[in-house]
Order: sequence, then structure tokens, then C-alpha cells
Amino acid sequence: NRDMGYEDRRTFAQGREEGASYASFREKAKRKRDRVGDLKIVVAGCVAQQEGQTLLRRVPELDIVMGPQFANRIHDLLDQANDAQVCATEQVAVEEDITTPRRESNITAWVNVIYGCNEKCTYCVVPYTRGAEQSRRPDDIRREMLALGEAGYKEVTLLGQNIDAYGRDLPGLAADASGRRAWTFTDLLRHVHDVPGIERIRFATSHPRYFTDRLVRACAELPKLCEFFHIPFQSGDNDILRAMKRGYTHERYRAIIDNIRRYMPDASISGDAIVGFPGETEEQYLATEQLVREVGFDRVNTAAYSPRPNTPAAEWDNQVADLIKQDRLNRLNKVVMDVATERAQRFRGRTLEVLVEGPNPKNPRQAFGRIRHNKLVYFDGDGKELRGKLVMTRIEECHAFSLFGSLVEVVGTRAAAPGTLPLQPPPLLAAVPQLPRVAA
Ligand code: SF4
Repeated sequence: NRDMGYEDRRTFAQGREEGASYASFREKAKRKRDRVGDLKIVVAGCVAQQEGQTLLRRVPELDIVMGPQFANRIHDLLDQANDAQVCATEQVAVEEDITTPRRESNITAWVNVIYGCNEKCTYCVVPYTRGAEQSRRPDDIRREMLALGEAGYKEVTLLGQNIDAYGRDLPGLAADASGRRAWTFTDLLRHVHDVPGIERIRFATSHPRYFTDRLVRACAELPKLCEFFHIPFQSGDNDILRAMKRGYTHERYRAIIDNIRRYMPDASISGDAIVGFPGETEEQYLATEQLVREVGFDRVNTAAYSPRPNTPAAEWDNQVADLIKQDRLNRLNKVVMDVATERAQRFRGRTLEVLVEGPNPKNPRQAFGRIRHNKLVYFDGDGKELRGKLVMTRIEECHAFSLFGSLVEVVGTRAAAPGTLPLQPPPLLAAVPQLPRVAA
């Protein structure tokens, strides 16, 4: 939202699910407002969705409470919040298509392709807040990507809670008499792959239950598909996976990764892991460590299990003590760091394509961007001038989550016009209620 003149001031509270009272929440909001002055305070996410107007009434300092499905509409919500508190928590039907690309950058865009989730993981609040899966129509997604390509965007990340489940709710069977449904995520990738101007396509998040061999082969075959896969595994122990209701085993997860590497040996793999799930023993935790080491992840987003309101696991009486959870989290983070650092060394000495995103905010003499494997690369150069261009960089220094290199040559010249945002979102749904501001 920098293009609207806003700066991100980061989260000031972890929210109600961690036990904060409304009073302490109010206190933090007041303090933040006193310190920063001209500020919009937004509470977003699934728990915000659950609390909705109650949260706005109890914490009048808030400007916006929004569910995750409104992430792409933050611009409109911020506008509306000038005059009133805004509660954007309505469930959205795809027919109403609230989608517009995230406009944090005019180089890379996020495009929603499927909303909601049909899974029932026992720790997760999403099924109760975002509703059932709803796939957008393939032609609507392609149309949106065509507009992005025309507007100068270079990279699109297709988004969905379980993106590889795409198409299950779309009607029809494939024309090839295979009995397959008409649209799978693999078919969607082929449908959008030739969009002019878009040089790179990524997607997230994949669910191991739906990750097919057909999808792996399409990713290997289609040149714009980046060799980067984010596939959460959550635990390395089958009993914990069963208690989580994840629907796969660690053997199945390993087989998926092996298959990806059979076709794309250099692919980057990232995942999510939870430690301290109810009932997790030390041995079960160690199975997660072992999985991280054996798979050789490029990145793992780790979390200590935190009970979410109204989810089954939150009610169980075999909760793991906070100290143990924290200890396991620290140990796993160390393993992740070691494994990611080791994996990153494969880039040393190679000359790799980087899509430049701009100047390094911490060092304006450097530019930064990402390689196809989604790793950040920093190098000496004019980030403003190179923004939106594809350049080749020679990688010299490799850290767990970032690389340092030197510019070899510029290979792409079609830069996105800075500051132009030609894609205007459709009018905001009338359903977003506004509440008259009450005195804080
Ligand atoms: Fe769905 Fe992911 Fe939540 Fe499981 S963890 S219920 S797959 S959103």
C-alpha cells in the first residue's frame, strides 16, 4: 500500500487466541496510536473473521477488522476507514469475484485461483472461517493474467489454500475419455502458461494429498513454471499426522519430494512444520527433525502449536507444556537453519537469472530480486533502474535464506512503469458493513 502513501508498521499484538484480553488489546492500540500518530489499525485473519463486529465494538481504536478473503481489497477498505470503522468479514462467493491482484509491487502479482478449504485439520480455524472450496473459472484467471502481462507485470503467484485441489468443484469431464474431471490444477497451468509478458509463474500452497505425478511433469515441462514448491508437511510422525487429520503419511510426503527431484533435481522445496501438537512425544518430535534433515529443505516455516478457538485439538487434554514446545521450536529452527545453509551452497559460482524488485531497503547501492528458486539475491547495482528487469548474476555468497552476487548482464528490458497501477479492482461488495465511529 505504499502507492497509497501508507507504510507498514507491523503487528502490534498477537491477538485474542493467545489470551490477550480486550482491555489489554485496547491499551496496546491506544499506545501505538499515541506513538505513531496518523495510523490505521487493522486486525486481519481467520480469528478476526470469527470475532468480526464484536472486536470492533470492544476495541473502538481499531479501524478495520477483516477476514483473509479481503486481503486483495485492503486499498478500498483503507479508503472507507477514513470515515468509519469497517468490518469486512462476509463470506465471499466466487461468482461475485472480488479478486484483484495484490498491488504491493508492479512487478509481481498474486492471483487467487481457489478460495476456501474442504479439509478438516484438527488444529486449523480456516474450514470454519473461509468456507468450502470454490474454484474460479479458468478463463477468468487467464483474463486477469493477460491484463497483468499487458500492464508490465513479470511474475504471477497463483494462490489457494490447497491449490492442487483446484477444479474439484468445476463441472464436466475431460474430453480425452480418461474419466478425469474437466479442470485440474495441471490443466489450469497449461491454460495460463502462454500469457504474454508473464515470464514466471509460481503457486502456493500445495497439499500433499493432491500433489500428482501429472502436476510434477507439467512443472518440469512448462518453462515459465519456477522450480520452487511450497508443500507443508507439518510433522514427520504418522500418528501425529493422523491426529492432525492431514490425510497422508511421511512416506507419501517423501515420495512426492523424490518425484519432484527426479524431474527437477535442483528444485527448491519449502514446507511448514508444527511442533508440540497435543500428545507429541520427544520421539515424535525427533521424527520431524529427521524429515527436515533427510528431505533437505530450502526453507521451513516453523511454529509451536497454538490452540485456535473452536478447533478440535484445542479441546484435547494432552496439550504439551509451553516450555517443551518452545524448546522443540528452538531446536527445529536450528536444524532448519543448518539444512537451508547447506542446501544454499549449491548456488555458489553459478550464474542465475534474477527478476529485480528494486533497491535493497537497507543498502541503496544494492539491488535485490529473486531467482526462480524463490531465493533472494542482493548485488551491487541501481535497483531503481533495474526494477522489473531480468538480469543474470553470478552468485558469490550463500546464506540460508539469501544470496549475494554480482551483476553479469541485463537480459530483459521491458520494465513496468513505476507507480502505475492500471488494474482497478471492481467496486467493493456492498456487503461490507461500516460502523459509525464511537469515541475511543
Ligand atoms: Fe485447510 Fe490448510 Fe487449514 Fe488443513 S491447515 S484445514 S488444509 S487451510
